[in-house]
Amino acid sequence: MKTSVIGYPRIGSHRELKFATEKYFKGELSAEMLNMQAKTLRATHWASQKAAGIDWIPSNDFSFYDTMLDTAVLFNCVPARYQALNLPALDTYFAMARGYQGPAGDVHALAMKKWFNTNYHYLVPELEDSTVIRLVGWKPFDLYDEAKAQGIETVPVLPGPFTFLKLARYTGTKQAADFAEPLINAYVELLTQLETKNVEWIQLDEPYLVHDQTASDVAWFVELYTKLLANKRNLKVRLQTYFGDVRDSYDALIQLPFDAIGLDFVEGRKTTELVTSKTFPKDKTLVAGLICGKNIWRADYTKILDTLDAIRPHAGEIVLGTSCSLLHVPYTLSNEPNLSKQEKAYFAFAEEKLNELAELKQILDAPLPRETDAFQKNHILWETRRPNCADLAVANRLAKLSEKDFTRLPAFEERIPAQAKALKLPLFPTTTIGSFPQTQEVRSNRAAFRKGTKTFAEYDAFNKNETKQCIALQEQIGLDVLVHGEFERNDMVEFFGEHLTGFRFTSNGWVQSYGTRCVKPPVIWGDVSRAAPITVDMAVYAQSLSKKPVKGMLTGPVTILNWSFPRVDIPLHESTNQIALAIRDEVLDLEANGISIIQIDEAALREKLPLRKSDWQCDYLAWAIPAFRLVHSGVKPETQIHTHMCYSEFNDIIADIDAMDADVISFEASRADLTILDALASAHFKTAVGPGVYDIHSPRIPSEAEILGQLHKILKKVAPEKLWVNPDCGLKTRGWTETIPSLEHMVAAAKKLRTEIK
Ligand code: GLN
Ligand code: ZN
Repeated sequence: MKTSVIGYPRIGSHRELKFATEKYFKGELSAEMLNMQAKTLRATHWASQKAAGIDWIPSNDFSFYDTMLDTAVLFNCVPARYQALNLPALDTYFAMARGYQGPAGDVHALAMKKWFNTNYHYLVPELEDSTVIRLVGWKPFDLYDEAKAQGIETVPVLPGPFTFLKLARYTGTKQAADFAEPLINAYVELLTQLETKNVEWIQLDEPYLVHDQTASDVAWFVELYTKLLANKRNLKVRLQTYFGDVRDSYDALIQLPFDAIGLDFVEGRKTTELVTSKTFPKDKTLVAGLICGKNIWRADYTKILDTLDAIRPHAGEIVLGTSCSLLHVPYTLSNEPNLSKQEKAYFAFAEEKLNELAELKQILDAPLPRETDAFQKNHILWETRRPNCADLAVANRLAKLSEKDFTRLPAFEERIPAQAKALKLPLFPTTTIGSFPQTQEVRSNRAAFRKGTKTFAEYDAFNKNETKQCIALQEQIGLDVLVHGEFERNDMVEFFGEHLTGFRFTSNGWVQSYGTRCVKPPVIWGDVSRAAPITVDMAVYAQSLSKKPVKGMLTGPVTILNWSFPRVDIPLHESTNQIALAIRDEVLDLEANGISIIQIDEAALREKLPLRKSDWQCDYLAWAIPAFRLVHSGVKPETQIHTHMCYSEFNDIIADIDAMDADVISFEASRADLTILDALASAHFKTAVGPGVYDIHSPRIPSEAEILGQLHKILKKVAPEKLWVNPDCGLKTRGWTETIPSLEHMVAAAKKLRTEIK
């Protein structure tokens, strides 16, 4: 039995790539040094896969920012505005990723979107009418050679043409179909060149296939690949899918001349059934994605072996693989001094997943019955009940919930006047999403407290002082609804997890979110509850500094769940309701302590929406939306509930968003087009909206005129009394130098708008 990894984390076990790249951005590291760092990391990552005996090791899964962006650059899809900057190649690349503002010009970044149902973000390739697609890059060849020089044969990996064209954005009159021919020619050229290098395999990722596909989608896929594979000779091509099953294209896929097909048996609910009922061609290799690439629980070998036993009679060669790239799990358990031995026994990060593949390989190669130590150990782990996991009080509270706990009264129309009277806000109220720049000092303060070199009193005094300055600054800028700045929070989910029972934390469990940004998701280990108020003290302090309302700032249950590694022993909805009850207690405590506006962030609500529309309601929305209502249904009519969602891609779930029954929602709208606003209007969206008026993912400073322009556009679709003015997300990743002028311009634009509308 051979083993395969289809993608590996690239950021490094101590986020070396992040730190090097950020130094490069600041001009503190040369391009040569950055490249050296990257090379060292790649060598390490290949070596550990080799050491674990992995047979198919990927290359070209490395990226300085994102592999969709790499692919766009590889195929010459660099929009004119970046070419016009005339920067060196690496800087053009980063300009596409982050925008550019400097002597060479002033341009926006490419749009960034969530990668399927993960918290990873890809850059959306932009295809202009003038784009001439052809192979212009070397990266897949260079990285292959680099590994080869290390004595390792790798499989170059890149997104396939179907997924690339489906995810790209078309800015002119040309559409996907118009680019198909040149793109296929470019892939053919790539394959030809790999072939002349005697590369054995290439892996083309087509995760788009796990969405609901129409017959014409499938036909187009077949057309693309029939051309792409027409002249293939020695180079073997592996089609890789992940994040679900390929129920609508399976019949077509197995007829195409692929040499191997990778299927996801973890998230692909129907994958086993497809293989057993339709069989898998014996002349192709089936790469069975059985080791979960997304969660950190150790694999259950018994289940995996059962699946293998079920599919084996229906397929030829089977290679054991990961369900998706290991990019979505942290690097290694060996940097986790704070997890107990008992806890670690249940976890597997990327490196440990390599071990699992190695162990399974051994188990499978050994004679029956399966009595190897590794198998027995794993079996016992999953047979026995996990310690410190159940809490009877939580179970009892959940059991008592009824419909009225999920309904806020009085209804929206009745409570809005009460809020207007209590809050007395101007037209187009200005606000921010919550966090303010996290400077080195702010981070050091948290680190010192964590290490124990600062007492809680010292740590807290520092944060309160930051908040005090932040409130003063917001008053000075003239914002209407203030925030405390979130200086005590490392991350919006980890912070709450740390204050709730049931969570476990890693010290170095970083996962790349976008570019150099990484997150460290907590693990939901057991039943969740709140032992004591979490944010009340800081909220009350912040409110005491201003006559203007200061928002209480919480993270919602769906986001806490989605940005954690969830349990696999109880259903997701049960975990979510446990968290909802804990946050509900916090909401009521904030209200009781005089906080009049409470924002409950659901930044990640859309993220875990099943990829297939047909699964949306039953698998997700039917419990996720009520869980949010459970959090706020107990407040008074005058208390204003805000929510925030990153990304505005909720055109298709507008009714559900409205059914969250918040009073105000802010969301990203500056990087995307504004079609969301049409959708809001046509759905008679009742909730007031704050479509982000500028992009906080980029360091560029928007001018007042630019923001006013954006607001004018928005006002064509949104009623003035429903419009809030805010950036599109929290400011924690930004510096003060760009934050202050950007907010000043934003407030000035709102004031101008008020005079115009009057
Ligand atoms: N309140 C959080 C912040 O401002 C929201 C972050 C987010 O949406 N990702 O940082
Ligand atoms: Zn956000």
